[in-house]
This record gives sequence, C-alpha cells and structure tokens, in this order.
Amino acid sequence: MAGGPGGWRVRAALAPAGILASVLVVGALLAGCLYGGQPVPEGGEPLRIDFLDVGQGDAALVRAPGGQTLLVDAGPNDRVVEHLERLGVERIDLFIASHNHADHIGGAAAVVRAFPVRFVMDNAIPHTTVTYRRWLEALAEADVPLLEPERRSIELGEARLEIVPPPGDPALGHNDNSVGVLLEYGEFRAFFGGDAEGPLWDWWVAEHPELLPPVQVHKASHHGSRAGDTAEGLARLRPRVVVVSAGRENQYGHPHAAALALYDGVGAEVRTTAEEGTITVLARSDGSFVIESARRPPPAPGIELLIEVLEFARLLVSRAGP
Ligand SMILES: [Zn+2]
Repeated sequence: MAGGPGGWRVRAALAPAGILASVLVVGALLAGCLYGGQPVPEGGEPLRIDFLDVGQGDAALVRAPGGQTLLVDAGPNDRVVEHLERLGVERIDLFIASHNHADHIGGAAAVVRAFPVRFVMDNAIPHTTVTYRRWLEALAEADVPLLEPERRSIELGEARLEIVPPPGDPALGHNDNSVGVLLEYGEFRAFFGGDAEGPLWDWWVAEHPELLPPVQVHKASHHGSRAGDTAEGLARLRPRVVVVSAGRENQYGHPHAAALALYDGVGAEVRTTAEEGTITVLARSDGSFVIESARRPPPAPGIELLIEVLEFARLLVSRAGP
C-alpha cells in the first residue's frame, strides 16, 4: 500500500497547521474508501470478524449486528478464551470446528467450559488424538447439541451462513474434509475453508460451485500453505483481501511463496496475523468494509489524494513566499 503512517507524518509536517486541519477533515470524510469503493456509511452496527492472534492455528470470531456470535475454529490452545474475554464475548451461538486437527480444536474444550455455547458443528470425521478426546469429553459435559455438517443455511441475526459441506470421505484425510463457511451480510461475503487442499477445492468446485461466489474477504486455506488454496477456487472467490492465520516465524514457512503468488494473481491484498496480530474486519451490508489490526493502524483513508492535497498546499505556501 502506498504511504504508511511514517510517510503521512513527513508530508504533514510540510503544511501549515491551518491547511493541515482542513485537509484532515477531508481525510476523515473519506474514511473507509480503501476497500468499499465508497465510504463506509455512518450509523448502524457493522458485522465484525476478528481473526484472532492465536499463533499457528485458526480461530475467527464473527459477530453479527445484534450481537449473535459464531466462532470458526478455536486455535491451538486455551489462549483463545483470553481473546474472547477481551473482546467482551458472553456466549457463542455457534462454534464450528472446520476439522479436528489440534491447531483448530486445541482451545475448543476451554471455550465450551468458559462460555455458554448453543450449537456446535464439526466435520463428523473423528480423530485419534488426546486433544480430540478431551474436546469430546468437554462437549459431552457441556451438553451442547452437535450439528451435522450438511449443506444448509443458518441465520446469524441479520447475517447468514451457508455451510459448505465436506465430502465426508475419511480416505481424503482431515484437511480435505474441512467444513467450509460462506458468510453473507447483504452484499458483503467472507469465506472460511479450514485447511482445504486441492482435492477438497476440486470437490467444492464440482459439487457446490454456487457456494463459491465472489467474496470480499477470504481466510487463507491451510494457513497459506503451498498445498492450500487453488487457482480454480480463487478464480471463483476473487477475494479482495486474504487473511492468513499463522504463527510468527512458524516452522512451516506459512504463508508459502506459491500461495502468495496465487493471491497476487487474483489481485488480493494479503494480511497475516503473524505480522499484525488480531485482524479485525468491519463490514456493512452494502459490501463496504475496513480492516484494522493490533499492530497496523487502519489504512489512512484516501492517502494518495491526501498527499496530493498536501503537496498542493505546500506549493501554494512556497509560491506565496514571505
Ligand atoms: Zn491447520
């Protein structure tokens, strides 16, 4: 992205205070231009997605306007609970475990113990690990209804989830039996495909192409592994932004250069929790959205225009002379 906060400060120092103040008002009016094509409208509560900084794993919290909550995956350990508490979560309406690998269900037992959870969905492919067994025990203790990962629509307040079902064939392995979620809020869409790899993307493209429409935000499949997203899947989703959920300096080298090349190929901007910590998407039903993160301030709105205006102001001042 052109012009970081540092650039802003350098440029701003060139303009006299009065001109700068009026220019900043212009900047404020343009807030949210970067992704929406038009400013994020004032008023009303946005849909919010927090890609939580859980290290090497996945956990994304979705809150619909009205407060209904969806948690997609629970990260590798109990730290997910701290994130949810910090964000003021009081209950989870639906927890979806995309698949039963530890980096997706490691914190799931702690979540059902810490919060009332109304429904749980998993991919119906059991695992043999201690993490999975403990999760099943916690689930039984909490007595939460377990939903089948079928093709279905689920209302989440004003938002809607389309469940993108897994093939349900254990021979394909856990990653390629991930449950997919297409989140829709008016014109805004986001896609979560767990750790789907080539075989699952091929299956989804063949069996459920209607569930792979253009989206604004896409969670990188399999943490941006070289074996995650496919060109065919991305050609359908055409995401504006891809969020990679991965640990800092992770041993797998996520995100992989091959995945980054695929995202670049569809013109998507890549944001990673490894670099930015928790990444927050605020979306309106007209499809406009902004992204904020812990370590990177929100995009300076209309920064290119702002720089041009400041340059013009500087020229005026220098021409006027003393
Ligand atoms: Zn994973």
